[in-house]
Amino acid sequence: MAGMHYDIVIVGGGAGGLELAARLGRKLGRKAGKERVLLIDRSSFHIWKPTLHEVAAGTLDTHQEGLSYSILGRANHFSFLLGELDSFDPVAKRLSLKPILAEGGKVLVPERSVTFTWGVLAIGSGSNLFGTPGADQAHLLERTEDAEVFHTRLLAAFMKASFSAEKTMSVAIVGGGATGVELSAELIEAHRELLGSLGSEQRFRLDIAIVEAAPRILGGLPEKISDQATVALERKGVRVHTGAKVVAVHPDRLETSQGDIPADLIVWAAGVKAAPGNTAYGLETNKTNQFVVNDRLETSAPDVWALGDCAAVPWVGTEGKEGSIVPARAQAAHQQASYLAKALIARLGQRRVEAPFVYKDFGSLVSLGENRGVGALMGGLGGPNFFVEGLIAKWAYISLHLDHHRAIMGTPKTIVLALARLLQQRVAGRLKLH
Ligand SMILES: Cc1cc2nc3c(=O)[nH]c(=O)nc-3n(C[C@H](O)[C@H](O)[C@H](O)COP(=O)(O)OP(=O)(O)OC[C@H]3O[C@@H](n4cnc5c(N)ncnc54)[C@H](O)[C@@H]3O)c2cc1C
Repeated sequence: MAGMHYDIVIVGGGAGGLELAARLGRKLGRKAGKERVLLIDRSSFHIWKPTLHEVAAGTLDTHQEGLSYSILGRANHFSFLLGELDSFDPVAKRLSLKPILAEGGKVLVPERSVTFTWGVLAIGSGSNLFGTPGADQAHLLERTEDAEVFHTRLLAAFMKASFSAEKTMSVAIVGGGATGVELSAELIEAHRELLGSLGSEQRFRLDIAIVEAAPRILGGLPEKISDQATVALERKGVRVHTGAKVVAVHPDRLETSQGDIPADLIVWAAGVKAAPGNTAYGLETNKTNQFVVNDRLETSAPDVWALGDCAAVPWVGTEGKEGSIVPARAQAAHQQASYLAKALIARLGQRRVEAPFVYKDFGSLVSLGENRGVGALMGGLGGPNFFVEGLIAKWAYISLHLDHHRAIMGTPKTIVLALARLLQQRVAGRLKLH
């Protein structure tokens, strides 16, 4: 088993980990060499997770959107290693990566071991199935591969429906959070684009149902936002079932407390839970398998930090939030990456960043497709919240994605990339049908 050593090893190149690697690499790697900062991810390319519903609907193409970690590493002066975390020993400061297998199970790359001086865990989270029978058979939107599999099935179902006698297909989405709402809006857009390319003989209806156990969708956001989103979705023909608990998932239907909902495709987009394997790394974890950290993002082991969805970060400094943890959001991972980059760089200079990590909630935005969005922007400390909708909300939503790109690529490249994508869509259409 080959061994390697790096000063700082970051596991997980998502919304938080990749930004951290880029910031540290630019600061430390440029002069001292790429051996200082290593990023590890189980995927060879990066897709910003909040866009997975677009991958699922086919309105975003991973071949265009995906950014190679190796190329990002070269530009930002960090090293990259492809591999899935297998073991993590915070005392020996050693981790191992699972072997990489070729098709048929043949070992392509054996298990590898890496030692580190400082370790950062940024491995994100998955869905919470709440022990619901059959839920593991539903489609999930945890990884890019999940979204791609869903997209392939969606195209097959579209094809089947357009040549069927019924001329209908149905999708049931469990969970009326941002993921479920945005997915339903994106599916409607994909369907509309598709209809534009079909003859009247082949046109079919798309039925979408959102099933939410709580009394309203977007429960974490202000009531005005859920009301607006419900109206917008219902206008588009989405059936919103609130107060309906999913009892079981069957291949062709959802069994709910309000009766059965038949569906050709079922997506589970409810709940957030970190990987069960997190409990095996000798670090303190909570009941949803997140690493327990303090307000400096330090785990229970010295020289090991955690950030993003996989970390239970105490929410300090905001009135009314004491005792709770920072929500699992891209904007939180983004802020934590900036904080930790500063803290680690200060520590290298034998200094300590005295201020704790304070999450600033800039508000929440939900995309409703067709250049429409809805959300609330926070008006700063103690100030009023601004309700935004329509194009402004959609642009504010897109700016979150651009901020992420700016953090990993810089402003000029982000502008070029955004323009290139816009032109590509103009030429080839927005919907990926292959
Ligand atoms: C469809 C959808 C829409 C969303 N929309 C929004 C939104 O509008 N706004 C918002 O703020 N948040 C949104 N979120 C939540 C947001 O995506 C997450 O909070 C954010 O991505 C968390 O960042 P992270 O770095 O902790 O984890 P991730 O971005 O999930 O990154 C984790 C990384 O770790 C890698 N990894 C995981 N396990 C291993 C392992 N064992 N070994 C090696 N690598 C591993 C993964 O490949 C991945 O690259 C959305 C989520 C989804 C699914």
